[in-house]
Amino acid sequence: MEDIFAPEAKLWHHVESVIRREMDLFGYSEIRTPILEKTELFVRGVGNTTDIVKKEMYTFNDKGERSMTMRPEGTAGVVRAVVEHNLLQAALPVFKCFYIGPMYRYERPQKGRLRQFHQFGVECFGTDSPYIDAEVIQILYMILKNLGLSELNVKLNSIGCPECRPVFKEKAIEYFSGMKDKLCSECNERLTVNPLRIYDCKVPECKECSKDAPFMSDHLCKSCGDHFEKVKSVLSSINIPFTHDKSLVRGLDYYTKTAFEVTSKHLGAQDALGGGGRYDNLVSELGGPKAPSIGFGMGLERVMLAVKNQNIDLKISSGQDVYIIPFSNNESDYCFKLLTGLRAEGISSQMAVGEKKMGSHFKDAEKIGARFAVVVGENEIKSGCVAVKNLAAHEQANVDAAGLAEYIKNALKK
Ligand code: AMP
Repeated sequence: MEDIFAPEAKLWHHVESVIRREMDLFGYSEIRTPILEKTELFVRGVGNTTDIVKKEMYTFNDKGERSMTMRPEGTAGVVRAVVEHNLLQAALPVFKCFYIGPMYRYERPQKGRLRQFHQFGVECFGTDSPYIDAEVIQILYMILKNLGLSELNVKLNSIGCPECRPVFKEKAIEYFSGMKDKLCSECNERLTVNPLRIYDCKVPECKECSKDAPFMSDHLCKSCGDHFEKVKSVLSSINIPFTHDKSLVRGLDYYTKTAFEVTSKHLGAQDALGGGGRYDNLVSELGGPKAPSIGFGMGLERVMLAVKNQNIDLKISSGQDVYIIPFSNNESDYCFKLLTGLRAEGISSQMAVGEKKMGSHFKDAEKIGARFAVVVGENEIKSGCVAVKNLAAHEQANVDAAGLAEYIKNALKK
């Protein structure tokens, strides 16, 4: 779990502001749900055969002996809230929302994989229109593009529905049963509980086994097949580049039909920036109405990592406009008022505290990235004129204290 502080925090703000702008554009409103939910929600929602539920949840009994879990992902909590507050009925025909916040998974930490990480995610409830599949994929892609990320790979697949998936699962079980000795021990377990997960196992021998296996997207029912074709054609029509990745299955049980993931060439082994899919039955399984839905989760730490690895200059302004330096403690009261006046005019300012040599003060001004230093001594207070130093241009001017804010504003414009 990581601490986040300046200057990194500025990057987070920037990424979040790009996200919020895009969300306004696409008509998604924010939802904030609690970090803690009843464990049962994730067992039912995420699925008890998934790695998340089996191995990765932070679960404990609270003082009332209820089993609680710190959310490992965003969708289950959002679905619970949507059902609990009848948000679907209120928002006909569809309810579109997004979330940003910390998630918790007890995974083996490595670069790009933490135990507390942050996800931005969107959900659109109440429609099975393939245009919404395309829209949701477009959102993820556009946000990453707007952050300047390149060499992205949008992987797309269809993982069927309760009509065609069970039939296909039998085929997969039959195929992989013939090569049990080549599969890793986890895949041997998956063979009985969740054979589709064998397809995204990273163990080379398992990868080799699944190369010639039957693929779900070749065995879709008519409804899933038509849906998949339409999603692909809409994405092509809006110029979102994608590849059909037949082995993409995603780690959560609730997905139906469309599954997708965006990866970056600028990340290491953990190269997925975000992923998601359609979940047409989750809302009703969690006690709500029938509401086909789709969403994704994007990992913010990985986005930050990709931005850094790609050396993207986001032109994030850092530093303060003004650093006020009282010559001695005697001038501090005067300076503090000056400081308050500048801030009231929207000029970001700091005042030096503690007596130091003038040289050290100027070093501090540089450290905080100040553009101007204002020095105030006894004489300046008497004359009502303060010394303003442009730190980059190494120029100095005497400025009437009453007009200081105006002077700084004009100088900043230049
Ligand atoms: P998932 O909910 O597993 O589909 O994950 C969605 C996205 O969240 C992934 O593509 C990653 O970018 C990010 N993510 C998932 N798990 C972690 C983790 N342990 N640490 C950092 N980011 C993660």
